[in-house]
Amino acid sequence: MEAPDPRLPNYLSCMGCGSCTSSCPAAYAYHQGLLEREFNPMKLVGLLKLRSPPGDFPLDKCFHCYTCKWACRAGNSVSDLIKVLRERKTGVRSGILYRSLHEKGLSLTPETFRPGEWEDWRGFGKILAEMPRFRRELGLEGLYRRLPAESLQQVQRILELGPSLRVEGREEGGWERPNPSGGIYLFKSCVMDSHYPGVTSSLKFLLGKLNLRYLDDERQSCCGGFSYYADEIPFSSLLVLNARNFALAEESGFRKVAAVCTTSYGILTECWRLLRGKLGEEVNGLLREVGLRYRGGVGVYHLSEVLYAFRRELRSLVTHDLSGLKVAVHQGCHYHKMFREYATPNLLEQLAAVTGAEVIDYEEKNLCCGMGFRHTLENRELVRAVALRKLGALKNAGARVVMHACPGCQVTLDRNQKYLEEKTGEDFGLVHMNYGQLLALSLGADPWRVVGVQTHSVSPQPLLEELMLA
Ligand code: SF4
Ligand code: SF4
Repeated sequence: MEAPDPRLPNYLSCMGCGSCTSSCPAAYAYHQGLLEREFNPMKLVGLLKLRSPPGDFPLDKCFHCYTCKWACRAGNSVSDLIKVLRERKTGVRSGILYRSLHEKGLSLTPETFRPGEWEDWRGFGKILAEMPRFRRELGLEGLYRRLPAESLQQVQRILELGPSLRVEGREEGGWERPNPSGGIYLFKSCVMDSHYPGVTSSLKFLLGKLNLRYLDDERQSCCGGFSYYADEIPFSSLLVLNARNFALAEESGFRKVAAVCTTSYGILTECWRLLRGKLGEEVNGLLREVGLRYRGGVGVYHLSEVLYAFRRELRSLVTHDLSGLKVAVHQGCHYHKMFREYATPNLLEQLAAVTGAEVIDYEEKNLCCGMGFRHTLENRELVRAVALRKLGALKNAGARVVMHACPGCQVTLDRNQKYLEEKTGEDFGLVHMNYGQLLALSLGADPWRVVGVQTHSVSPQPLLEELMLA
């Protein structure tokens, strides 16, 4: 490896323990016969330690689930290592995600899904065709949210300028996480709003019940995370894009940036930390071109953490106790694996318990869903090999509902479940919901007009009838 990059972990610390390889879904896919070339994170690190090039290591097969980082007791992150290697080796290539980000300020919208490409997501075509009506039922206009023209011009300028920024040096920025005063900057998710717009309305419903001040800023672009991990924008563009989002939050006085999406949470946390260092000034040099400046005054949270702080108040507001319902939680890798330093242990379990539901444990709790960013666009058999293992473990544990915190995971398990049932002949019988949806239901929210259950592939309707919520 040549010049230092702040994303680069200290891979020289590797002890060769193999924990990264034994927990890696790409290594699993190789052993299932789904990859032609061996994917062995420990071997890759071993090569780099010997200053050997990665050769034909299949860098593009990484899921970027950060399980390797979570598993490593030597502080390494093969995920980041691979991302840097790939950026240096093959660079970025503009595709549908870049075009969407450039044209709409959102990496993903329902228009990104071309008809015919998603027939394996059983029933999704029908959901997509009806999405404008579903959104109207949720009080939303159009097929997706629109950024104002001035914001779009800023995003476009940033995407032009971003690649010129040299991201070099050792990691700076410090670890302490601030809790700034002011309200919540609701950092919306392009993936969540494309698939399940009822999640954002459920979260707003809950914030309203708790009388918490929040800003739904139409100028906010997406975090760019999906485009970044799919190699369609460089890290430098990601930094400037989110410095703009932070500058908007700071200027509005809503300085507690709370992400709906788990990937956004990871990306925003990474950007926030690096912008506190020397890079922050260089990024501001580019932001000046769009008339903005970020002064370092925001704090980044996942929205589940905001609600977690009010779990007792939420419990007192429950109108439909979900006792008897077996719920398993799936956190989403970019929350606790990417930045374990900030993660609240058992956060989702405790939020699920607010509803009165029985929270069950299961094998493979730490396994990623299989989404894998680019894999979802180009190689869904790879995705489903991992998803199948996950769904099997959830079923074996007796779960009825899987409570998610990440849109990508909810999409992966909900949209692929029917196909996997057809293929394997197994009935998983699992309903997938975001924690915001399940909490909103137990606080009396309308299943269709607030929670948006009509956008799910596995219909929650039978469950709602069992729970006497419909
Ligand atoms: S888990 Fe860490 S220490 Fe162990 S082999 Fe992988 S990189 Fe090396
Ligand atoms: S990020 Fe996931 S898929 Fe990639 S090397 Fe690490 S564990 Fe394997």
